[in-house]
This record gives sequence, C-alpha cells and structure tokens, in this order.
Amino acid sequence: MLLQHLFGHGPASRADLARSTGLTRVTVSELVADLLAEGLVEELGAPQESRVGKPPTLVGLVADAKQVVAVDLSVDDQLAGAVLTLTGQVVARSARPLEGRRGDDAVAAVRDLAADLVGRSTRPVLGVGVATPGIVGRDGVVLDAPNLGWHGAALADVLQDALDLAVYVANDADTAVMGEYTFGGGAEGGLMLLRLSTGVGAGLVLGGNVLHGHRGAAGEIGHVVVDPDGDECACGRRGCLETYVAVPRLRRRMAEGDAGTALADAGHRLGAALAPVVGTLNLGEVVLSGPADLVAPLAEVAATVVRDRVMPVSAEGFVVRPTALGDDGVLVGATGLVLAGELGGLVTGRHAEQAAPGGSASTSKTR
Ligand SMILES: [Zn+2]
Repeated sequence: MLLQHLFGHGPASRADLARSTGLTRVTVSELVADLLAEGLVEELGAPQESRVGKPPTLVGLVADAKQVVAVDLSVDDQLAGAVLTLTGQVVARSARPLEGRRGDDAVAAVRDLAADLVGRSTRPVLGVGVATPGIVGRDGVVLDAPNLGWHGAALADVLQDALDLAVYVANDADTAVMGEYTFGGGAEGGLMLLRLSTGVGAGLVLGGNVLHGHRGAAGEIGHVVVDPDGDECACGRRGCLETYVAVPRLRRRMAEGDAGTALADAGHRLGAALAPVVGTLNLGEVVLSGPADLVAPLAEVAATVVRDRVMPVSAEGFVVRPTALGDDGVLVGATGLVLAGELGGLVTGRHAEQAAPGGSASTSKTR
C-alpha cells in the first residue's frame, strides 16, 4: 500500500503516508524502515515549503531499486522484450524472429528470451510481464491465440517454473492501455487505447479497472461493421472498421486514390464507430497508437466527428490523441502489469517523475 501510494503520488512524509493510507504512524514508520532496508525507498530530505518547526523528511520510491522484464508478442512473427525501471524507462532490449514457431516451440522461445533478459538486468527483478495477442485467462493461461498456435497454453506457469519469478500475462491491447494509464499521463476518466497495426485492437480503462467484458473480448471495435457493402474482412464479414483503419488496408487505399481523401474517410469511419462508445461510457480520452503519419490526422478527424455526434456534456473536454509512449507502449504497459500485480491494483504514474528524481516517466524521450 505504501509503495503504491509513493508510486502514484510521489514522495511523501511518514505523517502524510499515515494520513492517506489510514495506517498508524508507528506502523508506517516500521514499514518505511523495512522498505529503506530493502532499498525500495529512500529519504529525500525536507520539502521546500516547510518553514516552521522541524521539517518532515520526505520518503520516495527508488525507481531503480528493482527492474521489470517485459515481453511483447504483439508484433507479427517476432519476440521483443526489454528490461525496464519501475518508472518504465528501458534499460536493455532484446528481440528475435519467431521464424514461424508455434505452440510449445513458441512458449520455449518466449522462455528463452525472458531468461536472456533476466540475465541482462542490473538490479533485482520484481517480475516478468508478457503481452500476448489473443484471449488470456486470469491465471496467465493463453486460452486462444491462433497466430501463435496457443489454445490453453500455460505460459505464466512455464515461465514461473523456469525463472523463479512472479509472471503476469495479459492481452496486448489490455497491456497497452494499462501502460498509457500508468505511464502515459492518461485521464482519470475513461480511457480507450486503439492500436492500429495489421489489425485494430483496443483496450479500455474505466474507474481504474481494465474492462474485460462478458467473454473477455472487450475492445473488439475493429470488427464492428461500419459499411455493410464494404470490403471483405479477415473475420469473413464485410465492411468492419478494420477494413478502413488497419494500417495495410489504409495504406493501400491511400496509394490507390487520393491519400488525403482516404485518410479523412478512415477518420470519419473511426469517429462514427467511436461516438456511441464515447457517449455511452463518457470516455475522457481515446488514445491512438500506430504509425505517426496516420495516427495524427486520424485523431483529428475522429475527434471532430465524435464531438458532432454526442451530447455537449460528453464532448466537453473529450480528446483523441496519439499515444505518449511511442512504439514502446506495450513493453511499458507490461511493466505496469507487473507493478499492478506486485503493488496491488492499478496505479497511475502521473507523478512518477517526482518519484524518480532526475528521471522521466516517459520512455519516448530516451529512445
Ligand atoms: Zn471483421
């Protein structure tokens, strides 16, 4: 609880920590002493604004005390991973081609990459986070990921046994939205993150929770039909949103006709599909990740369309923007996944820069 508070809100005095956690000052002092001994927190001196009496000493999270190993399986036929600090800064990277491996072979490849990354860490590893396409059960079993040939693959168990570390596995879109929420300066209100790549995936955070939905398929807006007479989609139907805004499809439309018109049309379809969701859930932000040259114009058109189609109260302050996390959104999100698991619950890192003196919460500046 103390670590979560320090991560989310930045340095605090022991008295502040007691007030905000409801623990007694004695308990807080004892816990802080333990955390100091473990090297997870450090004393930062007195806040500048205190003038009278003996100023309280601030305690802050040591961002570099531990590291997280993150693996991203969302890129076609590739394994990408990194070692990151607790504030989401990349310390080391590793990537290798999957070369068509599927099933148990693919699990073994992930295990080898994770082991390699653990070996590259320069601090004790807090845990391992894996972002995978497909449907993931709560116990880290990948129930269905057709591209990797996984149907009930016990990925978390295999990695846990091999590495002797806490392992968290989640859907890549859920992981990306968790990264945006934890490290991307996301809004307190509802947040939806849309990933535009070979397909379209989305994750939602509402009231501090990632939404999973009835069958774990929340966020499948890519296969909502926006034009019944449109092009055929990978899912077998016609005119899904994906046929307009998936990157290969959109690039083809731009190359075949007028690029500006194709982009504007795609942005319009996107806004039309988003409007009912924004109106229903009163989302504060829709964040787009994908190629920068596509994402910026799409965001602009979609935001205008959404605002035109919802009530003024829903449109007020509503934003569509590109992700703040660049291409590392999923890896950073996997770090958030481990933090959430190990610190208990989702954490927002809007004050993470305070928690990491001299550091930055955004990896986009360090790449
Ligand atoms: Zn479809």
